[in-house]
Order: sequence, then C-alpha cells, then structure tokens
Amino acid sequence: MEDVIILGTGCAGLTAAIYTGRAQLNPLVLEGSQPGGQLTTTSEVENFPGFPEGIDGYAMMDNLRKQAARFGARFEHAKVDKILVDGATKQLHAGGAVYEAKTVIIATGARPRLLGIPGEKEMFGGKGVTTCATCDGAFYRDMEVVVVGGGDSACEEALFLTRFCSKVTLIHRRDTLRASQIMADRAVSHEKIEMAWNALPEEILADDRGFTRAIRVTDRESGDTREIACKGAFIAIGHIPNTDFSDGLLSRDTDGYIVPTAGSQVKTSIEGLFAAGDCVDHVYRQAITAAGMGCQAAIEAERWLAER
Ligand code: NAP
Repeated sequence: MEDVIILGTGCAGLTAAIYTGRAQLNPLVLEGSQPGGQLTTTSEVENFPGFPEGIDGYAMMDNLRKQAARFGARFEHAKVDKILVDGATKQLHAGGAVYEAKTVIIATGARPRLLGIPGEKEMFGGKGVTTCATCDGAFYRDMEVVVVGGGDSACEEALFLTRFCSKVTLIHRRDTLRASQIMADRAVSHEKIEMAWNALPEEILADDRGFTRAIRVTDRESGDTREIACKGAFIAIGHIPNTDFSDGLLSRDTDGYIVPTAGSQVKTSIEGLFAAGDCVDHVYRQAITAAGMGCQAAIEAERWLAER
C-alpha cells in the first residue's frame, strides 16, 4: 500500500510530488493522457514568479518533474476511472490495474471546452479545428485563421498565431473581452488581429476535401449571419474539469469542479482524499495557484498520515 498517490502531472500534481517527496513519503504519481498538463501547450509563461524573462511552458513542467523525481517521486502512466474507499484505504482502478493508498491527491486538471456546433467534431484534429495554437499554429503559416473566445487563453492563442498566420480574427460573443487588460490591449491593438465582436459561432464549414474553409457566425445585435474565411479555427472558450471518475464519491458543482470541505481549499468530504489545482479551483485557475494548492494538499496529506 502506498502512503501517497498523486493523480496528475500538471502544476498542482508535480508540486504535491515535490513536497511529499521531500517529506520522504515516496509518492507514486499517476500521469494520464496529457503529461505535464495544460502548460505544456502554452508558449511562454510570463507570470510565474522567479522567471523574469518568462519560461517556455514545456520546459517549466519538465523542470518540475525533474525536481519531483530528485526527491524520490515515481511516475507511472495510468488513467484512473474509479476510486473506491474502504475504511482508510483508497482503491484506485485504472483499466485492469488497481492501486491502493492511504492518501490520494487528485490533481487531474481540466480539458478544453468545445463549442458543440456542426462541423467542429468532424474537422477536429488535422482538418482545421484545434484547441492548441502552440501545438498546431505552425501548420497555418501565411494562412487566415480564427480564434474563438474572449478570455486570456483566446488572446494568448491569437497573439501566438500572429507569428505564423497572415491574419487572425478573434471571434467573441460579447463586445468586451474577459481577458486581463494587458492581454486584451495586446490583442486588440495587434495589426494582424481583427476583432469580430458580438459574433456567435454557428457552424464550421468544410471545403470539398473536408477541410475547414470558414466559420459562420451570427451577429447578436443585428441577427445577420456571415462567413469568416479561415483555414484554421482555434477554440479557446475555457475548460471542463477532469473529475468524471469521482462521480458519486465526491461532491462536485454544476460545472463538475470538486467542492472542498468548508474551511479548506484542498480537503474533500473523504478523509485522506485531497484535491488541488484546476479540478477544484474555478476562480483563479493559474499555474501559481495550482502549484500553491498542490503544496497545501501535500502538507495536509503529510499531517493526515502523521496523525495516524
Ligand atoms: P475563460 O476566462 O473562462 O474565458 C472563456 C471565454 O470563452 C470567455 O470569453 C467566454 O465568453 C467564451 N465562451 C465560453 N463559452 C463559449 C461559447 N459556447 N461560445 C462562445 N464563446 C464562449 O477561459 P480561459 O481564457 O481559458 O482562461 C481560464 C483561466 O486561465 C483564467 O483565469 C485566465 O486568466 C487564465 N489564463 C491566464 C493566462 C495568462 O495569464 N497568461 C493565459 C491563459 C489563461 P464570455 O466572456 O462571454 O463569458
């Protein structure tokens, strides 16, 4: 039986691994389908303290992983689909494998939300619809693309895409961006970025080979529809927490975020089961806050074990 199993290798999971590793708890870290979490798909991280020039997201996660391994964290690939609790023992089911632990830190993060409009699923991944400019932006060199969304992610994606693309249309359903002022200003004032305000995406349209050729939007004020030509449609409209496996075990809010017990950010309703990062935090959702929650969860797990 493990003392600590950590689910997830984003900022929260790896920080929990560093802390529990340093506490000599020999943590086992289970990594799912996106090792390193969301930051591995970010170009530059400019706001994590300690990096005055910024740092590449992938490099940062690689550093965290090495730091955790240095303190004895072990890593395995496993996607947990169910957790059963038997007294103080937590049983984690991952496909055919079963892991047992005294404490578990859930740091499974979140995945990109999709629009759910016609054409999106059909052209997703390889035919022009994507959620990751860092991964796919270079394929759209000298082409016109759109980014859908009005938050920091959408602005960041749009700005990143200006490195390659001839024109980026930022499609937002309202007339003011949700993004932080600095990101919004950069996006709106960029010469390659055109804003499509009050525009509601209706359908992604294919050419005769089945590749993206345009997106149809409705103007929310006039009701008019129009097509915006694009070879790529980058969807950046927020995230859905990866908590489905905890259905029936932990309380979750209507958006699926794990609800911590009153008075704590990381304790759940089950003793010895903690949650940290974007699977529980729907307010701040920053790399630094996820790392902070990973630290809190690790300290709580350590205390919980010490008390017993
Ligand atoms: P977000 O802040 O939740 O923004 C999502 C955007 O998508 C909103 O503008 C929303 O419109 C729009 N949207 C949602 N559903 C839509 C739909 N069905 N159709 C059309 N538009 C839709 O998500 P995010 O941009 O991914 O950011 C998440 C968190 O990460 C935030 O806290 C953000 O500050 C942080 N973040 C920070 C950085 C950075 O600091 N460098 C970079 C990326 C993300 P409405 O505005 O109308 O709701």
